[in-house]
Amino acid sequence: MLGEPAPVEPIAPMMLVTARLPHFCDAVVGAAGRPLSFKQMPNGTVVIGGGRRGRADPSENLSEMLFPELRLTAQTAMEIFPVMRGAAIVRSWSGVEGRMPDDIPVIGPSARHEGLYHAFGFSAHGFQMGPGVGEIMAGLIATGATQAPLAPFSITRFAA
Ligand SMILES: Cc1cc2nc3c(=O)[nH]c(=O)nc-3n(C[C@H](O)[C@H](O)[C@H](O)COP(=O)(O)OP(=O)(O)OC[C@H]3O[C@@H](n4cnc5c(N)ncnc54)[C@H](O)[C@@H]3O)c2cc1C
Repeated sequence: MLGEPAPVEPIAPMMLVTARLPHFCDAVVGAAGRPLSFKQMPNGTVVIGGGRRGRADPSENLSEMLFPELRLTAQTAMEIFPVMRGAAIVRSWSGVEGRMPDDIPVIGPSARHEGLYHAFGFSAHGFQMGPGVGEIMAGLIATGATQAPLAPFSITRFAA
């Protein structure tokens, strides 16, 4: 919209949650070789996601679950945690998210317009990055400078 190239792609990460299980895991677990994020909540339910995608419709701000893909997420969880084999899935959901081609968000000032700042394309990591990015952006906008090393996040990496 502002003439600054930003190849952001709409994606639809998917999650599922199980019925309560006896407590067996305190850590938030990720897998290195295949997509998985895995966390048992204090009430015993297990929230599982980590990369399998549904179908994103950015024009309507809607997403659609793709259950054959979600099945693979459940399968990975069962293979890594055999205790999950009898678990019942009670709910699943997805949402529209912005992904950059290098999975690194765009954070910092516009290269084209004075007074315009970018913070988008969090590539499925925006919850964890939000508080830090918010603090950096507030300082940057209020004072025009930041100590944060923002060069790798610059929108100029996509300049034609
Ligand atoms: C299922 C799922 C699970 C996730 N799990 C995690 C996780 O475990 N950890 C993690 O760190 N991150 C996770 N994320 C990613 C995280 O939710 C996002 O990175 C984060 O919400 C992005 O924040 P944002 O403010 O950049 O964008 P958004 O939260 O998408 O906000 C953008 C806003 O802009 C509005 N908008 C769009 N176009 C216009 C327009 N033209 N004019 C006005 N408003 C407009 C939209 O309606 C929306 O409200 C997950 C995402 C999904 C979908």
